[in-house]
Amino acid sequence: MNKKKAIALLSGGLDSTIAIKILLDQGIEIEAVNFMSPFCTCDRKDGCRHEAKHMSQVLNIPLKMFSTGLEYIEVIKYPRFGYGKNLNPCIDCRIFMLNKAKKYMDESGANFLITGEVLGQRPKSQRKDALAIIDRETGLKGLILRPLSAKLLAPTIPEQEGIVDRKQLLAIEGRGRKDQIALAEKHKINDYLCAGGGCLLTDKNFVVKLKDPDSCDMITIKEASELCIYYTKKREPAEVKYTYQGKDEIIKSSSMPESRIEERMITI
Ligand code: SF4
Repeated sequence: MNKKKAIALLSGGLDSTIAIKILLDQGIEIEAVNFMSPFCTCDRKDGCRHEAKHMSQVLNIPLKMFSTGLEYIEVIKYPRFGYGKNLNPCIDCRIFMLNKAKKYMDESGANFLITGEVLGQRPKSQRKDALAIIDRETGLKGLILRPLSAKLLAPTIPEQEGIVDRKQLLAIEGRGRKDQIALAEKHKINDYLCAGGGCLLTDKNFVVKLKDPDSCDMITIKEASELCIYYTKKREPAEVKYTYQGKDEIIKSSSMPESRIEERMITI
């Protein structure tokens, strides 16, 4: 490994943004990818997609946005590593997204991946043993750098090879966001209203609705409707106007210089 290019998972939340900034400051070339979850709870204009686009512009890095597609619904229905407290199959979800990111990493000639994961922040997928499962199942052991908690984890290959300076990485742990907010202030990143992002699959009330046969006809998120039909064994409603149809959406970025933008919408 001698190049300095990484693919970063950018949700648009504070953690992934800060994680990227730390590596940019080390001179690493970074391209961001965003997986558009239909279950994002960010209620800013255009939801989580807006956040990822906005933060890629703040960081001045290229961004590619990928639809999770209906393939993601299968991950939710049949998680190999089970659910968190509600319908959130977090370990499988991370494996799903990192596998896609790995494919893109190989295509784009990058050497490793960056995520904004923080040890102990999420009980299902951000424990040490869960991170180890994710690394093993994706075949990415040593290639997923988690800058916010890196000093609490085994050195990754880019650290071992001196491509990334481990001394400048962090040892953040737990659910608090005090350290990340301080870093955001330091780096003058101040427009992050959806700091932690959010996922409907972790919402108890949403899950109750999904499992209620009377709800299916009223759900306007295509993927949620699929789940509702699956859980209630109800036939697909005839006339539903969906607000989100990942595969058909065109994503445009606005203010980045033309040469840094590759607009496309793809399901991988
Ligand atoms: S909270 Fe939702 S988006 Fe995040 S890892 Fe879990 S299932 Fe995936």
